[in-house]
Amino acid sequence: MRVVYSEKYVTMDLEGHVFPNTKYKLILEELEKLGVVDEVLPPIEISPQDLEIVHEREYIDDFVNLRRTFRTLRSEMPLNKSIVEGFILMAGGTLQASYVALEDGFGYHIGGGFHHAYEDHAEGFCYVNDIAFAIKKLKLEGKIKRAAVIDCDLHQGNGTAHIFRNDPDVFTFSIHEDPIYPWPKEKSDWDIGLPALTGDEEYMRRLREAVPKIYDDFKPEFVIYQAGADPYRKDILGDLMLSIEGLKERDEIVLGEAHKRGIPVAITLGGGYAPNLQDTVKIHVNTALVANELLKNLA
Ligand SMILES: [Zn+2]
Repeated sequence: MRVVYSEKYVTMDLEGHVFPNTKYKLILEELEKLGVVDEVLPPIEISPQDLEIVHEREYIDDFVNLRRTFRTLRSEMPLNKSIVEGFILMAGGTLQASYVALEDGFGYHIGGGFHHAYEDHAEGFCYVNDIAFAIKKLKLEGKIKRAAVIDCDLHQGNGTAHIFRNDPDVFTFSIHEDPIYPWPKEKSDWDIGLPALTGDEEYMRRLREAVPKIYDDFKPEFVIYQAGADPYRKDILGDLMLSIEGLKERDEIVLGEAHKRGIPVAITLGGGYAPNLQDTVKIHVNTALVANELLKNLA
């Protein structure tokens, strides 16, 4: 399968922040070792101005000029030149993965999923909402009309929900742990807020209720999947209790139900803060393997 990646994701200097951006390189290496990578595509090059289809000019201006204002300071990440370049590049990466998805069925971005970024400010570990950028760009180019976001990160996709709150052609779905950040939550088109300690069985039951119904009722022509690794039971930021096998089953539901209906899916990675980085890598690699298996069935 074709994947999207840039070395610049890993050379971003996060100044010791908990976000493990080295995971991106390890995921690529593991996928190459497993022989599932046919081609590694670079992100589409985009300019800060291009981001104005999602973000307000004043916010982008503060961000690219490294100004610490109320717009940028709500991010818990540091702010430096490599981070500005890396986050803008990752929006181009999710766009590239979206083009691949429209051609191949699935596009896997070894990056992206920064769902806490709002139109006018940064939040969480997110500066640029790559998910909203890719969807808006495809709509403007006339490639799609209706899209859905299936957000399975531990945390609610609050920025994405807010950006599309008045857009009847974009359905936002988020399944997340309820009693943690962000607080208060935004209103997605469909939210499933789970109590702490929810495990595989209950999670899959709720996901199986929602995903096929969204695909059948809303009929998206395109889906972006935020496949966060942080609902994992050992994750340090949350208390959902999913196993590595459970997270793979989650991927099979989201991707398999789309595949059955011929809906293309761009995959973004989102969070993942397991004490052992290899667990986070394995969870993300499994998502690619599920997509790759489904593509083989198509061929
Ligand atoms: Zn998260």
